[in-house]
Amino acid sequence: MATRVTRRGVLAGSVAGATGLAVGSAATAAPGYRPTGTATRASAGSAGAVGRPRLRWLGNNGWEIRFDTPNGRRTVLIDPWLTRFHTGTYTEQGADPNTPLSVRPDVIDRYHLAADHILVTHGHYDHLTDVPYLAGKTGATVLGTETHVNLMTALGAPADQLSVVRGGEYLECDGYTIQVLRSLHSMTGERSRVAFAGTRPGHPPATPKVIADLVEGETLAYLITVGEVSIIDFGGSNYLGAELAGLRPTVALVPVGGGAIHRYVPRLLATLGNPRYVLPTHWDDFDYPLDEPARDYGGLAPLRTAVRQASPASRFVVVDHLETFTP
Ligand SMILES: [Zn+2]
Repeated sequence: MATRVTRRGVLAGSVAGATGLAVGSAATAAPGYRPTGTATRASAGSAGAVGRPRLRWLGNNGWEIRFDTPNGRRTVLIDPWLTRFHTGTYTEQGADPNTPLSVRPDVIDRYHLAADHILVTHGHYDHLTDVPYLAGKTGATVLGTETHVNLMTALGAPADQLSVVRGGEYLECDGYTIQVLRSLHSMTGERSRVAFAGTRPGHPPATPKVIADLVEGETLAYLITVGEVSIIDFGGSNYLGAELAGLRPTVALVPVGGGAIHRYVPRLLATLGNPRYVLPTHWDDFDYPLDEPARDYGGLAPLRTAVRQASPASRFVVVDHLETFTP
C-alpha cells in the first residue's frame, strides 16, 4: 500500500526496521512525552501466523490498526477524521453548533487509507464526518449504533456496508476479532453534560448540515484482538465499568479528560487489569492540521500523572500525529 511519506513516517519506518523497536521516532514527539515502549517484534514469517498489529495515530480518536494475515494485509480504522475543518472546539467560546460540516476528499486521499472494518464510537462531527466517504472509498464494513448508521446513511454512505451493533457483539473476522462494548460519552462543562446529546432511531434523518446535526447517538468502545495482542479504544472519556469486567487488553487507548467522572483513570485501569501500554487519544487541538505535530490542548500531563499514579507498571506511550506504535 502506498503510504504518504512524511519525515516522521520515514524515521519511524527506519527506526523500526533497523532495531526492531516498536515505537516511531521520538525525535519529533513533544518534549517530555517521548514514546517509551520498546517491545520487540515477534519473530516474523512463520507460516500461518498473524503478524503483530501496528497502530498509527490519525489525530483526535482516529487510529489505524494494520497487520498481516495468511490471507493478506488487514486494516481496521477507528473514528477516522482527516478533514479536520475549523470549529474552535478548544477555544474559550467553544465550537459554534452551526459550523457547517465539510468533507475534503483531497485531504482524506492524501493518506491512502485502506480498511476492512471502520469502527465508529459515536456520532459527533470529530468522529463520524469522514466515515461515509471512507466507506465508499475502501469498501469497508462499518460498525455503529442505529443512530450512527442512520446519520451515515443520511450523509450518503453505501447502505449495504453499514452494520448496526448495540454492544455485546463478538465478531470473528479474518485473522482478528472485534468485540463491541456498550460505553458512555464524556460529560463536560459546569453541569457535566454530553454535548449534542440525542439519538436518531428509525429512519435516517434529513441530511446533516452542521455539527449539531451529528448527535452522539450513544457511545461504543471496541476491543480488537490480533493474535496475542488486544487493543481497546474509547471514543470519549467515560465507560461502563461492568462491560469491561474481565477484559485484559494489551493496549488501552484512553482519551484525556474525564474530570467529571469519579476516579476516571484509576477505576478504568484497575478494571482492565493495568494494561501493559496506555496510549493517550483525543488529546490534540483539531483546529490544526494532521500533517503538523499534535498540539496538546491541556489534557496530556494530567492523564500521564493519573496513569503513573494508578498503574505504575503501565507504560504511557505518546504517539504523535501519523506516528506508529507496535506493542
Ligand atoms: Zn464526542
